[in-house]
Amino acid sequence: GRVIDIQNLSKRYGDTVAVDGLSFTVRPGRVTGFLGPNGAGKSTTMRMALGLDHPTGGRALIDGRRYRELADPLRRVGAVLEAGEVHPGRSAYGHLLWMARSNRIPASRVREVLELVGLEKVARRRVRGFSLGMTQRLGIAAALLGDPPVLLLDEPVNGLDPEGVRWIRNLMRGLAAEGRTVFVSSHLMGEMALTADHLVVIGRGRLLADTSTREFIEAN
Ligand code: ADP
Ligand code: ADP
Repeated sequence: GRVIDIQNLSKRYGDTVAVDGLSFTVRPGRVTGFLGPNGAGKSTTMRMALGLDHPTGGRALIDGRRYRELADPLRRVGAVLEAGEVHPGRSAYGHLLWMARSNRIPASRVREVLELVGLEKVARRRVRGFSLGMTQRLGIAAALLGDPPVLLLDEPVNGLDPEGVRWIRNLMRGLAAEGRTVFVSSHLMGEMALTADHLVVIGRGRLLADTSTREFIEAN
């Protein structure tokens, strides 16, 4: 299956070409790393796949559809973008419950995802006081609410301590082992070498490599 399908995708911001004719597919049951230096166009590509930004050209499809055409998007695809989208006065529980209610997801699922990410003990605390690692876990919990088969994570380990990095790596590996599609961006080759089965490498908005991680390491 071609779960995430990027077809000749382009995005300009004024004179800046952020994404420049990018084509690749992301397949299920493995972690695909989206590797490239800062400014390469990774976030822009992910935002277009999630319908948060309009392509200048080409298409970004999930399950053969544009994001806005998905019938029940939270149950199809979960996303973890940059931290800070959470109302700081809410508790972790309150935030997830609000998300569940807004998306017709049973409230019982909130407790499950809090346990999945190890936040059950701090579920009543206000998000304002959360560390970066806790905020990332909450973002992942929110992405997992709808039990989606497809996950997009934009630089999820940025700024985390080694234990936090390892925890997110193991979580992504576990999600892929369950058969999910995990697409994760990073500018860190070493981290992607440990995390990803497959690599899509970009620079200046263009595809540089689309290969197994092992082949990429042997060639570089
Ligand atoms: P990455 O995620 O790989 O760091 P981005 O997709 O964030 O790269 O950015 C790609 C390029 O597009 C960069 O040159 C960035 O400055 C530019 N860019 C991204 N978003 C915007 C925006 N909203 N307005 C103008 N330029 C942008
Ligand atoms: P907000 O600040 O957004 O109102 P709250 O944390 O106050 O969020 O909680 C929102 C709702 O969730 C309230 O109805 C609250 O009683 C309920 N709630 C909060 N924490 C828990 C919990 N651990 N178990 C059950 N219900 C909870």
